[in-house]
Amino acid sequence: MQIDLHTHSTASDGRLAPSELVNRAALAGVEMLALTDHDGTDGLDEARTSADELGIRFINGIELSVTWNKRTVHIVGLNFDPDYAPLKAGIQVLQTFRHTRAKEIALKLEKSGIEGAYEGARRFSGGKMLGRMHFANFLVDSGYEKNVRNVFKHYLVNNKPGHVTDEWATLDDAVSWITGAGGVAVIAHPARYKLTRTKLRKLIKDFISAGGQAMEVVSGSHNVNEMKTMACHAADFDLYASMGSDFHDPDFPWIKLGRLVELPPKCKPVWDLF
Ligand code: AMP
Ligand code: MN
Ligand code: MN
Ligand code: MN
Repeated sequence: MQIDLHTHSTASDGRLAPSELVNRAALAGVEMLALTDHDGTDGLDEARTSADELGIRFINGIELSVTWNKRTVHIVGLNFDPDYAPLKAGIQVLQTFRHTRAKEIALKLEKSGIEGAYEGARRFSGGKMLGRMHFANFLVDSGYEKNVRNVFKHYLVNNKPGHVTDEWATLDDAVSWITGAGGVAVIAHPARYKLTRTKLRKLIKDFISAGGQAMEVVSGSHNVNEMKTMACHAADFDLYASMGSDFHDPDFPWIKLGRLVELPPKCKPVWDLF
C-alpha cells in the first residue's frame, strides 16, 4: 500500500492547491495521505473533500515549527482534531511570528540592495502562511538567483544577509497541542538536522518526555542509510515509524509524491495508531 504522511500545499509553501495535491496523489496510487502544511490547518477541509471523492484515506496533518536547544526542528502532527482550542491558539502565535520575521527578513534584504521583498513574498504566499520559500520564489522571479536552493544557500540561512534567528514553539508545547487534540506527534525528517548521535538521542528523549510517539523513518529527504539508522533509533526508543515524502512542488524533481519505499521490517507503522 502506498502511503504518504508528509506533504505541502498552497496553504503553506507548497505549489499545488490542496485539491490538486490530492489529485496528484491519487494518480500516484496513494491510498493513505496526510496534508501537513507548516503551522496551519487551512488546507485540510479542501483536501479531505477531494480525498473522499477519490476514495483516498485522508489523515489530518500539520508540521509545527519548534525551537529546541537553539535549533529549528519540525514536529508533524497526524490524525488530530483541528478545532482543539490550544492548537488553534498555538498556530495563531506561530503565524504572527511568521509575519514579524518576514518583515525582518525584508529589512535585511533591503540592506543588501533587494527592494520590495515583503510585498514580493506575500504575492507568492497568496496572503496565507508566509515562509522563506515565498522569499525564495520572489528572488528567483526577480532574477537574483536561478533556483530556490541557491536563494536559501546565499540569502536565507545562518550567516547570510536575509537570515533571522527563529523563535518558534517549544517542543513541549508543540507536542502537547497535537496530543491534546487527540493526535500523534512525529519527529519530521530527523536526519535533516545533522545532529550528532548523542544530540539526536537527546531530542528523541525530550520528545518522548513531552508525549511524542513516532518519528519519520522513511522520508523524501532521507537516503537509504539514514532510513536504516532512523529505524534503529525508533526501535531503541520503542517509537512508531512514519513515512512521508515532504513533497512541495512538481518542479522539484528530487522529491516525488507517493513514491516511497516500504518501512523497514522491524518498524511499528504509525498508522496502527489511527
Ligand atoms: P520556514 O519554515 O519559513 O523557515 O521555511 C522552511 C522551508 O523552507 C522548508 O520546509 C522547505 O520547504 C524550505 N527550505 C529550507 N531549506 C531549503 C533549502 N536549502 N532548499 C530549498 N528549500 C528549503
Ligand atoms: Mn516547506
Ligand atoms: Mn520540515
Ligand atoms: Mn515538510
